[in-house]
Amino acid sequence: MSTVADKLRVDMIECRGHGVCAEVAPELVALDEWGYPILADGAVPANLTRHARRAVTLCPRLALTLTPTGRSR
Ligand code: SF4
Repeated sequence: MSTVADKLRVDMIECRGHGVCAEVAPELVALDEWGYPILADGAVPANLTRHARRAVTLCPRLALTLTPTGRSR
């Protein structure tokens, strides 16, 4: 059974550079020199979906979303 691949996105207007996302999902998020997130390109690999969801939940600004890419994995 295939599932739809999700992509992690950040609302840079809401983001305040707390860096929680990079702590929770270091495989998917790096921080720039000011502490703002640089997200990995492409769909979140299936084995990292839990980390991505956790980062979305724990972001203090609710600036992260996990949205379907429209492609199956
Ligand atoms: S946890 Fe949220 S507010 Fe903090 S850097 Fe990540 S996206 Fe921005």
